[in-house]
Amino acid sequence: MASPIPFPPHIAALKAYIPGRGIGQLASELGIAPERIAKLASNENPLGASPLAIKAMADAAIDVSRYPDNDCTALVAALAQRYGVPPDWVVVGAGSESLLGIAAATLLTPGRKTLYPQYSFQAFVNAAQRLGAMPIVAAAPELAVDLGTLTRGLGEEPALVYLANPGNPTGTCLDPDSVRDFLARVPPHVVMVLDEAYFEFMPAALRGDSIALVRNHPNLLLTRTFSKAYGLAGLRVGYGIAQPALADMLRRVRPPFTVSDAAQAAAVAALHDEEFLRRTLTVNAEGLHALQAGLETLGFSHLPSSTNFVLTEVGDGAAWSRRLEREGFIVRPVGNYGLPGWLRISVGTPAEVSGLLSAMAAGARNPT
Ligand SMILES: *Cc1c(COP(=O)(O)O)cnc(C)c1O
Repeated sequence: MASPIPFPPHIAALKAYIPGRGIGQLASELGIAPERIAKLASNENPLGASPLAIKAMADAAIDVSRYPDNDCTALVAALAQRYGVPPDWVVVGAGSESLLGIAAATLLTPGRKTLYPQYSFQAFVNAAQRLGAMPIVAAAPELAVDLGTLTRGLGEEPALVYLANPGNPTGTCLDPDSVRDFLARVPPHVVMVLDEAYFEFMPAALRGDSIALVRNHPNLLLTRTFSKAYGLAGLRVGYGIAQPALADMLRRVRPPFTVSDAAQAAAVAALHDEEFLRRTLTVNAEGLHALQAGLETLGFSHLPSSTNFVLTEVGDGAAWSRRLEREGFIVRPVGNYGLPGWLRISVGTPAEVSGLLSAMAAGARNPT
């Protein structure tokens, strides 16, 4: 709608974020119980959250009249210990998405450039656009990150480079030597964000020592999250690890009090619940294998995933999404990423995976 308010052009060009349909919303539309809906659209943990995290959250949520600990003292200490870094290398944020925004706000201004691969996570792209930065998009003709075009993009003199490994929505990952070699080419005055939201799901052979990269590169910010493998997406907790000069600047830019005490306490407990993480990774590995094998049997190609979701080529992603919703499965069409022929499907419980594959088999027989 036309408005007399003079929004800057890069703000007026922003698109609204469209989240997946909610379980409650679809259940009432279909007139069925919410338990019969499988949400496989946001790469959430199908096992829920660690019971220890839930208890810690409940215990910590009692006094909501106080502002939370802005320094996230206990969580920072736990993460510093886990990774063997000093506490001032750790920056906690309201989801790692908020850290992507903070990194962008710290480095980008109108006219500065930011480099990222085609098919990069929308949240980073939007954060850069909000700041009026000029995007340099490294073409990815095979969908997975193309290190050749990304390396050439460095010649355009970006202030900030963004690389998710594994990527979303692709699910693919680079081998650790390639990441290390690319980082060695990033000039020291250029900051790089290495987004490892799916780190825990990566096969051991593909997992590099990213903490060592942070030690060797004062211009590197590594981000991870409690939203995916740890099952705390609703609480909004993520973190970054960087050397102190960069970390200190990020903390100054970060808005205060964005991570509640309940979220901080749950994250500390989740970090220590190794049994829950192990179970999550086992269920995911089996589900991922079944989902990829099932899609292949049905004749749908997919990218090789190192995450808890699969990007699969179905022909018309939006039509398939609507068809599967009628069967109680919420999946993610990715037309907004420029991939209208693809669907992103999160790995669910074994029952959810087999139910989804049956619905896709029926849909493939009777396209409507
Ligand atoms: C899910 C995701 C995140 C962050 O999620 P938060 O809930 O904000 O921590 C970051 N990067 C990628 C690539 C993701 O898929």
